[in-house]
Order: sequence, then C-alpha cells, then structure tokens
Amino acid sequence: MDHHCHHHKERVAIIGTGWAGYALSHGLDLNKYCVIVVSPDTTSNMTPLLASVACGLFDFRIAQEPIRRKSRDIKYIKACVTHIDFEEKMLGCHPAFSHLAMTESRDREFGVHYDKVVIAPGTINNTFNIPGVAEHAYFLKTVRDAQAIRNRISEMFEMASIPAIPEDKQRQLLNVIIVGGGPTGIEMAAELTDLFQYDYTQLYPHLRDKMRVSVHTVSHKILSPYDANLQEYATQSLNRNNVWVKFDSHITNVTADTIETEEEGRIGYGLLVWATGDKSTPLVDSLDVSKSSHGMHRILTDSRLRVLRKDNTVNTDAYALGDAADIDGKSLPPTAEVALQKADYLIHQFNTFPAPDIEPGVPFRYQQRQLVTYTGRKDGVVAGKKEYSGYGAWLSWRSGDLMWTRSWRRKIMICMTWVLNWWGGRDIARN
Ligand SMILES: Cc1cc2nc3c(=O)[nH]c(=O)nc-3n(C[C@H](O)[C@H](O)[C@H](O)COP(=O)(O)OP(=O)(O)OC[C@H]3O[C@@H](n4cnc5c(N)ncnc54)[C@H](O)[C@@H]3O)c2cc1C
Repeated sequence: MDHHCHHHKERVAIIGTGWAGYALSHGLDLNKYCVIVVSPDTTSNMTPLLASVACGLFDFRIAQEPIRRKSRDIKYIKACVTHIDFEEKMLGCHPAFSHLAMTESRDREFGVHYDKVVIAPGTINNTFNIPGVAEHAYFLKTVRDAQAIRNRISEMFEMASIPAIPEDKQRQLLNVIIVGGGPTGIEMAAELTDLFQYDYTQLYPHLRDKMRVSVHTVSHKILSPYDANLQEYATQSLNRNNVWVKFDSHITNVTADTIETEEEGRIGYGLLVWATGDKSTPLVDSLDVSKSSHGMHRILTDSRLRVLRKDNTVNTDAYALGDAADIDGKSLPPTAEVALQKADYLIHQFNTFPAPDIEPGVPFRYQQRQLVTYTGRKDGVVAGKKEYSGYGAWLSWRSGDLMWTRSWRRKIMICMTWVLNWWGGRDIARN
C-alpha cells in the first residue's frame, strides 16, 4: 500500500500515458479517487505535431507533456503491464528500463491492486513482417521517433555535401520514401517539401534539384477518410509540390539503403519513413476479453466504455478506450479525437457519480469534428462538417497546433516558435 491512497478512496489504475491515459490522469477528481498510472512513457506524445517536429518546425519539447505535474498528486509507475487479473483486480507489471536485463527485470515484477482499471495501451507499429522494415525504417509514433528522423535528415544533407560524393549517390541520399497514404504519411511528405523548398534550397543550393519525396501506398487512393474529390485535390496538390505518389505499390523487401517493390524493383533511398499500419499491443493480445474480429484486434466495450467479457457480459470494474478499444458495433476510427472525447466522457462519469458502474449514465456519443490534412506549401484539405481546401485548410492546420497542445506553457512556446521561424527560418540547420 502506498501513501497516496487512503482507504476510503477508490483506486483507479490507468494503463498507458497516450492521449487517453494522459487526459484521464489529469481529469479525474483526486478528492474521490486515488489515481495510479502505469506506463513505460513518462511523457505523452502530441502526435499531430510529430511531422512538424521531425522537420524542425518546432522544438521536440513542444510535442510532449510530462505525466508528473507539481499540482497533481497522482502516482506514476514507469512500468509495463504484462497481464490483468480481472478476478483478483490485480495488474502484473514489470519495470520499463531498457538497461535492465530481461532476467533482472523479471525478478522485479510486481503487482498493482485496483478497484477500477482503465485500459489504454494504444497500438504498436505493424511492419506486416516485411523483411528489413523493423531494422531500417523510421517510424513516427513518438517524439523520440521524430527526433531520430530529424537527425537523419541533417545527416543525409551533410553526407550529400561531401565533395567526393558522386551525383547518383547524392540523389539516393536525398531520396525520401514514405510508406503509407494516410494522414500521417501525407503530412510527413508535406512538411518535408516545405523544409526542402523553403529552407534547404537556400541552405544547400548545390543540392537544389536532387531532393525528392515519394509516397508509396498499397491502395489506389490516398487519405481514405476523405471524399473522392478531396483525395484527388490532395494528390494534385502533392504533385504540384513535387511529391510523387505511387499507388498500388507492394513492398517486398527493405535493406539499409533500398526498398524492393513488386512493381518497380529496387529503389535506393536515404530515408525511409514507415507511416502505415498499426497492430494490437502484446497486452491486448493476452487479454481474455471480447475483441473485434475485423481488422486490428481491439478490446470491445459497451456504449459506456466498460470491457465486455468473452461471453459479452459487462465487466463493471474495467474500462477501455483509445486506439486499443472500440465500442461493440460502432467501429470508430483510431484517432486522438475519439480517444479524447471518450476520456472526457469517462472523466464526467467518474467525477459525477459515486459509483459510475451502478448509475444509469448516458452512453458515449462521438461528435464528428473537422479533419484536417496538410499537403504542403500552405495548402491542404479539410473534411467533416464543412469541406474545403487551399490556404484556409493550411490556417486550420496551423491553428490546430495550438488546439492540440494542452498546456499554456506549450501554447506560448509554439507562438514564439512561429515568430522566430518567420523571422529567421527554422532551427534545424543549427542543431
Ligand atoms: C504522426 C501521427 C499523427 C497523428 N495525428 C492525428 C491527428 O491529427 N488527429 C487525430 O485525431 N489523431 C491523430 N493521430 C492518432 C492518435 O495519435 C492516436 O489515435 C492516439 O495516440 C491514441 O491514443 P491512445 O491513448 O489510445 O494511445 P497512444 O497515444 O498510442 O498511447 C498508448 C500509451 O500506452 C502505453 N502502453 C503500451 N503498452 C503498455 C503496457 N503494456 N503497459 C502500460 N502502458 C502501455 C504506451 O507506452 C503509451 O504511453 C496521429 C497519430 C500519429 C502517429
């Protein structure tokens, strides 16, 4: 037992510090609940800002929020939950430190008791078992990933500037391949074209015509959440910005500097960004609960976000939300928008009612918000309540940076960065 939790308070354990877990940990009423957060990550990633961070538009610090805060007396444990005993109401955990040898960390396994558990472990990257992807591709899920991409971009340009480098090698180094035609892949391509066209043509004039960005997708279209006309608009906009979109492209193998596709054979690259495919975490795989059978395996809940057992009865002590969960019969998209709305719903349920499971609370209802994707050079597409494209879409996208960021400290940092970037260019050349 720990000093944070008095006996009269219910112990709410939250698994994960992503959009869902972070929001919940900061919204639950600490006079009513003792909140214990278990996650390997001490910070939450503001994922919509990651493509910008990877291209040096913002400092990486802006895209993460620490889970520990002076003003919130929650308990945080840096660990991974390996199993959940729903009968005993116990989480099995092991410490999450990469330098702890596996055997040592197994020795340090421990249990966390809960009265209510909220499961929000998100998803992990899916490489579709294509050889070489895990070893050589860069992902874009965390701030650490974004920093790695940023460092690689710097390295590519400096390598290509070495006098003895032949021209074909320069072109290979400056060829960026993005896999995935969803919002993440497209925004990464858009931010890269801005970086190349606005900043790098001046910083590296000798490499001006050698930079190239292409997006590979297995599908015959990009941005599947959008209408056909906006998909077409986005494709044209990308083409205007010299982003090549390769439809129906099947990648079969990846090496340190080439990809191989069924359609085109070997293609050399300097940076490969894998922005496609999510799969369920080992924790979700291990749970003996009802899960969706189509697409990715997600924990199924009722409309009040309570976990359904295998026999579809409701477990009133376990809740699930975020990308790892879905409401039975609903099929909501795995987005931060949905995760946050569900978190707000649960916060309301928990804080308003003495025992959220007994009260006849209203079911969760998703409010469709606008969906914005940037396509580069102050252009983009917006869907949702209203559909539009062009400069207005860019404005919505940039102001979205402020909306997504939850703390005032970071909102101010973003505004300062905008001014500095406008005045003196982005900071990437100086890192
Ligand atoms: C580049 C990018 C851009 C995006 N842009 C948008 C956007 O503009 N709009 C939008 O709505 N959505 C966007 N998304 C999607 C959005 O980020 C996800 O929907 C959201 O992160 C889901 O939140 P989550 O809390 O379920 O999971 P995550 O944010 O993935 O967090 C999961 C957390 O659980 C932890 N965890 C995992 N396993 C365990 C375990 N066994 N024990 C304890 N902790 C564990 C993880 O370490 C992590 O802290 C974007 C995603 C990416 C990658």
